[in-house]
Order: sequence, then C-alpha cells, then structure tokens
Amino acid sequence: MHEYSVVQALLDQCEREAKKAGANMIINIVVKVGKLSGIDPALLKSAFYFFNEDSFCKGAALNLILQKVAIECKKCGQISELDELDFCCPKCKSEEITIIDGEDLTLMSLEME
Ligand SMILES: [Zn+2]
Repeated sequence: MHEYSVVQALLDQCEREAKKAGANMIINIVVKVGKLSGIDPALLKSAFYFFNEDSFCKGAALNLILQKVAIECKKCGQISELDELDFCCPKCKSEEITIIDGEDLTLMSLEME
C-alpha cells in the first residue's frame, strides 16, 4: 500500500532530524497532508502506529493537519483555498491558476526529548 512506503520515509526523516538535534526520543510529530497527495489520513495513521513500534519513533504521537488545495490566480492574484476540487479562481472565475499548497505530505514539526 502507498501509505506504508510513505510512513517508512516519514519515520526515516524523523529519525534523521532527531539524531541531528541530539534527541533521545520523539514525543510528537506534526505532518501536513495535502488533499491532492493521494494519502488517506486514517490509513496513514494506522500504518504509522503499526511501523513506529520498531523504529526510533516508538511511542511518538502522530498529528495530522489536513491541508486543502490552495491556489493562486494568475489573473487577479487572489489566493484561495478550495472546498471543492474545481480548479478555477473563486473571485474572477479564471482557470489560469497555480496550485500552491495541498499536493504534498510535509513534516511540519517534531517535539523531541
Ligand atoms: Zn482570479
């Protein structure tokens, strides 16, 4: 499953960050999940708690921030968050937009000890 490889990469990244900071353990992990990332938040959580038992992140809590799709309109410059996935500017209805957020999974913060 896609979520499993995502979790493995996430655990590796957290471990690297923690070791770089000289921490002994990770308490809390905050991850932003974009609506377009293709990741199911519930599956991501269950995969995380399955795999973290055998990792440096054992005992850490995973907190997810669900990020809506954010777009910037190339015509009027309006930045909007979309509730529906209709890719046009809510203000001027232009379809010339750039997606600026909501596509990725991003590690936002780590609480360590
Ligand atoms: Zn616009």
